[in-house]
Amino acid sequence: MPLKTCTLIEKIALTHDVYELHYELPVSTSMLPGQFITFIMKGIGGRSYSILELIDDKIAVLVIKKWELSDGGRGGSIKLCDAELWEVFQFVGPAGHFTLSEGMKNRLFLGTGTGLVPLYNQILEWLKRETDEKYQLVFGTRFMEDLYYIDRFEALKEKYPNRFYFHLVVSREDWEWIINKGYVTDFLSSKVVSQYDEYYICGAPAMIESCLQKLSNLWVSDKQIFFEKYS
Ligand SMILES: Cc1cc2nc3c(=O)[nH]c(=O)nc-3n(C[C@H](O)[C@H](O)[C@H](O)COP(=O)(O)OP(=O)(O)OC[C@H]3O[C@@H](n4cnc5c(N)ncnc54)[C@H](O)[C@@H]3O)c2cc1C
Repeated sequence: MPLKTCTLIEKIALTHDVYELHYELPVSTSMLPGQFITFIMKGIGGRSYSILELIDDKIAVLVIKKWELSDGGRGGSIKLCDAELWEVFQFVGPAGHFTLSEGMKNRLFLGTGTGLVPLYNQILEWLKRETDEKYQLVFGTRFMEDLYYIDRFEALKEKYPNRFYFHLVVSREDWEWIINKGYVTDFLSSKVVSQYDEYYICGAPAMIESCLQKLSNLWVSDKQIFFEKYS
């Protein structure tokens, strides 16, 4: 895959450690919803990031969590999130197979943290099509302050009242009377799985494993499940 360059042109803090970053691409680019690009950084190596949105085929919008540097870490997300506007980066892509299948299907999307990114892109793309398929997003974080894009979900729900639904869950918040406490897997039940044809899951490996286990216990076939592990 050829190495290309892109320029950071906008940076928005979504939470205390998650940033929305806009990169201008050198040439008009196409992608499938759910795909990612991989930055190649000197002294760090390759770091992949899902694409939230591709504006006019020229601006890739990414959402990146800034991880603290720890033993063995190389600080790729720190370099990207601390970059100044107009800094130039090298990347390859878009690439990836975490894309939506064809056909009319009701789909359940399960994401935690920045695992929301490819799911959002997929949901947005499919809602634009004039069908009556239903999409439900279950989005989880550890604390309420880690949630982001709630206004976007509200706007989608208003625009597509009978097609898009969302459910938020936090795992470590004490304010249980305000928000659902628990994990995204808690949403899965036999009643829920009877309503969906396909499942799209993205986030940390442990979360994916828990979802796969629970779906398997509920007799959902592997063929109905698609996932991307952020590792
Ligand atoms: C296909 C793909 C798409 C991805 N898309 C995104 C995206 O859209 N947004 C995004 O923020 N990230 C995404 N990631 C993760 C990203 O590629 C990096 O792994 C992440 O930014 C950490 O890189 P780093 O160089 O900062 O970590 P390092 O400096 O190498 O590590 C820093 C510390 O963070 C810990 N750490 C890093 N990632 C995780 C994790 N997932 N869970 C627990 N601990 C962790 C490390 O163990 C280490 O202690 C994606 C990964 C893949 C494979």
